[in-house]
Amino acid sequence: GEDTSSLSDPHFHVLMMFTKIDKSRSLQEKFRVAMLSMVKHGDFLEEEVLVLHFVSDQASQELGQRMLQEVLLDATFQYEVVFHDVVDLTHKLFPIVEAMQKHFSAGSGAYYSDAIFFLSVAMHHIMPQSLSRIVQVDLDLKYRTNIRDLFKQFDHFPPGAVLGITREMQPVYRHTFWQYRKENPKTKVGEPPPDGLPGFNSGVMLLDLKAMRASALYNQLLEPGNVAKLADQYRFRGHLGDQDFFSMIGMEHPQLFYALACGWNRQLCTWWREHGYGDVFQLYYRCDGPVYIFHGNCNTAIPDD
Ligand code: UDP
Ligand code: MN
Repeated sequence: GEDTSSLSDPHFHVLMMFTKIDKSRSLQEKFRVAMLSMVKHGDFLEEEVLVLHFVSDQASQELGQRMLQEVLLDATFQYEVVFHDVVDLTHKLFPIVEAMQKHFSAGSGAYYSDAIFFLSVAMHHIMPQSLSRIVQVDLDLKYRTNIRDLFKQFDHFPPGAVLGITREMQPVYRHTFWQYRKENPKTKVGEPPPDGLPGFNSGVMLLDLKAMRASALYNQLLEPGNVAKLADQYRFRGHLGDQDFFSMIGMEHPQLFYALACGWNRQLCTWWREHGYGDVFQLYYRCDGPVYIFHGNCNTAIPDD
């Protein structure tokens, strides 16, 4: 991009959702695997700083601070840790995302507490203007490479792209867009790669906040009327939050997205193989090329190195 200031900015911002962690041993273990592998492969220049942002409640923050002391022990790079209060962020987010929640949340109402599942969608309004890029990642990941390399992907964004994201690796959107696909039998919506539009997975997201702020198209798509129009056009009804929103607008405006290689978010969940989609599953699931990050989604075990 044209942003020369970011070339010299030595801060690399990574954000993770980190709520109710004290209630789940399984999430604690996933977090440990993610952080230890991130630290193991993390390599930065002397003047660079990895800034770890956590969106958290009080109990999770206290646990997180204790666990971080341990998992960051072997870090060879500078880092900072920032905790964001989930209540504060929800308060800022709710007015922006309230209208879209009913299309992309479980249940029928727009629950206030569900707004946080749309954080990435409005991150450009929530984070300070001085923050121009942030990477949002799940906790159920295992890094096999230097996370610094992920940030290099920002430099490949074509003009107009606001978000870097990997495709969804199960036929979940083949299922969700079922009605639209029936009414439009030749559509690429929900079809497998390389020619189809399988939707996106939100486990690893590169948010170009500066581009998100600058994109008239992207900000129009956040307006309640336009969300409703697209959801109606695609007969869309989901429950996966930001991932559903991005997948839906990506059907209409693929140029807003930079397609990260599948190896940057190699999802391992096979749930849909056993739930009616076994015949087409491999078309979606296969990922050739190197795996940089494993994603053990739907509680799937991640293979050892
Ligand atoms: N998460 C959280 N608290 C929870 C559940 C989830 O903070 O109680 C966050 C965590 O960062 C996690 C992300 O939400 O990685 C998405 O959930 P998960 O990875 O379990 O979903 P999946 O990838 O299996 O769909
Ligand atoms: Mn996940």
